[in-house]
Amino acid sequence: MLINNFPESKVWNYFVKNNDSTITTCKYKDALTNETCNNDLKYNKNTSLMANHLYSNHRSNIKESKLPSITTGHLSIKAAFANSYSYCPSSQKYRDLEDPMCNFILQTGQLLSIVDNKHFFKMLGLFDSKYKLSTRQRFSCEIVPLKFESFKIKVMHLLNETEFRHLTTDGWTSQASLSYIGATIHFVDQNFCLKSIRISLKQSPNAHTSLYLKEQIELILNKWKINDKILSKFSDTAANIKHCLEDLMNKLYIPCF
Ligand SMILES: [Zn+2]
Repeated sequence: MLINNFPESKVWNYFVKNNDSTITTCKYKDALTNETCNNDLKYNKNTSLMANHLYSNHRSNIKESKLPSITTGHLSIKAAFANSYSYCPSSQKYRDLEDPMCNFILQTGQLLSIVDNKHFFKMLGLFDSKYKLSTRQRFSCEIVPLKFESFKIKVMHLLNETEFRHLTTDGWTSQASLSYIGATIHFVDQNFCLKSIRISLKQSPNAHTSLYLKEQIELILNKWKINDKILSKFSDTAANIKHCLEDLMNKLYIPCF
């Protein structure tokens, strides 16, 4: 591999030389943080170091067409390793890293914007500089939905292999005046361990009448194919949810507080 060393190299879109042309400084500006890199590199009439720097530190934020070109040729082993810049997203190694990353984001309730956080990005680079995080859009449109589908299959399997299921549910309004309905299923698994799985937390904009709550709860239970498999339902004693569970849904209703 050989880095293009012609004077018109695209590295000069990002680097400036000092007065005696011995040092170049990276002037790449992060669009999110508005911070300039300002990393100094020795300059010896060769743009390889600068190109390596761009690929290693800013590649995910620079369009491929604006990066310096790389052509085949001879490089030292050190330079060749320096230029093997990242794992291919379709590789097994990349997937092995991306899956726990997705689990971390979901299991710890992180905002997806964490993938744009420069400190987080830098930290991952220190752990493994060849792993470049997927974009926020890819996480939200592809990775998380896929993870949800695989999790849903596991949960449905769990719910279907148990005989007695119990539902806790409630509707409420947030401080931002948005209304929600939550539903959690409780059951004892085959190892006699009590399990609780939140199967829904959804916005429900209409007035929380008993009839509306019934429709919403049935939609949730039907989605998980367990509408006819609930032994008892728990909720607080607000009149709307009590009437919904006890009278309209005709199931064992247990007030919890
Ligand atoms: Zn830089």
